[in-house]
Amino acid sequence: MCGACGNPVKGQFVRAMNKVFHLNCFRCRDCNKIVAAKFFPVEDAEESYPLCERDYFARLDLICGKCDKALRGSYITACSKKYHVEHFTCSVCPVVFGPLDSYYEHGDEVYCHFHYSTRFAVKCVGCANAILKQFVEINRNQKDECWHPECYMIHKFWNVKLTSKLPTTPTASTYASTASSFVDLDAVDEEKTETPDSLRAKQARMEKQVEQIWRVLSAFEESSAGCISEMLRFVSAGQYLDAVIMAERFILHVEVLFAAIDDLEAQFAEQKVRGMSHAREAKMLCRKTVNFFSLLSHTQDPPEQRASITQELLALVTGLAHYLKILIRIALTGSLKLEREHGNTKALDYLLARLSLLALDDADPSIPVRGQDRSRLELESQGSIPPGFTSSTRGLAYGYRSLAVRMVRFWPNLCRF
Ligand SMILES: [Zn+2]
Ligand SMILES: [Zn+2]
Ligand SMILES: [Zn+2]
Ligand SMILES: [Zn+2]
Ligand SMILES: [Zn+2]
Repeated sequence: MCGACGNPVKGQFVRAMNKVFHLNCFRCRDCNKIVAAKFFPVEDAEESYPLCERDYFARLDLICGKCDKALRGSYITACSKKYHVEHFTCSVCPVVFGPLDSYYEHGDEVYCHFHYSTRFAVKCVGCANAILKQFVEINRNQKDECWHPECYMIHKFWNVKLTSKLPTTPTASTYASTASSFVDLDAVDEEKTETPDSLRAKQARMEKQVEQIWRVLSAFEESSAGCISEMLRFVSAGQYLDAVIMAERFILHVEVLFAAIDDLEAQFAEQKVRGMSHAREAKMLCRKTVNFFSLLSHTQDPPEQRASITQELLALVTGLAHYLKILIRIALTGSLKLEREHGNTKALDYLLARLSLLALDDADPSIPVRGQDRSRLELESQGSIPPGFTSSTRGLAYGYRSLAVRMVRFWPNLCRF
């Protein structure tokens, strides 16, 4: 008797699960294929029946998302799907992901870095590169904008974007259906002009640049803002000499920034193009610095006049911070312009190197020549002058004579300047 149809068994038969079956009756319970060659017995409470390999593994949820076959050995889980190790590839290209490779998920599919970047990744409004990690999302004019966190901070602090290109973030409608019907032209363009390696390198370059800009410029601005608020605090406390020493420290920041701007201007001049317009801001910053000292000279005035001095002082320090910020912005914009429009890839490096050199010296005014200590320079490789760079100031901060008696005593060689 056939274990499936109940009729007598003649001719070819299969013996399995303590029964016999017509060859033609021995079928997979789920797909109804004849499974005499290879089967997997299933024992239910009431009955036992065969399954084909695929359906047996399907019931165990062990089916490869790529080839739809059983996962008998080791497999990889991603995107709520499972894959044969050798079938865990990008949905677009045959790149197989190794155990340490990163892959990207989009709409239940996995993609390599390249295809995810070109087709699906949201692009940063600041630098137009794909956003692959965390980002800042803001809504401006009823439009959602995504930024790399550093790109956003650079924009927020100095109102500067790293690229003039508009980002080409794929819109939801472009990908309304599946990846196979994808038609984003910019993505196609990018896939034509870039290779996986070149795109990765481009992103890494931008990421590094953005990180350096943010790190160096925010530290520089913070350091000068620190001087300004200390100047205010010392004057309020009647510690005038300390205020003067702190002003000297602030002026050193200004000096280094001016030197960096002069060098950028030299680059523009070499290209025979118009430079940055910064004269007004630079003059205002100088004027306000001078005003600070003239205010100090009024601190011995009768008390009734001193109240207005405090007001004036507050406005003054706000002005100092304001113009310094604008000049940082001008320097950054100028160096980006040199890079974008004139192919000068060193200008930005040099601006940042100069400013970080000041930080290396802890903004100490008593150091007469920045970066004189070569070993430290070599440690901080970005502190060295890029080859072929024209510096109108020869890499020096001017190193003026210190106003502070105390410092002159500690640093007698300062008098040489
Ligand atoms: Zn039968
Ligand atoms: Zn089956
Ligand atoms: Zn597979
Ligand atoms: Zn791919
Ligand atoms: Zn960005």
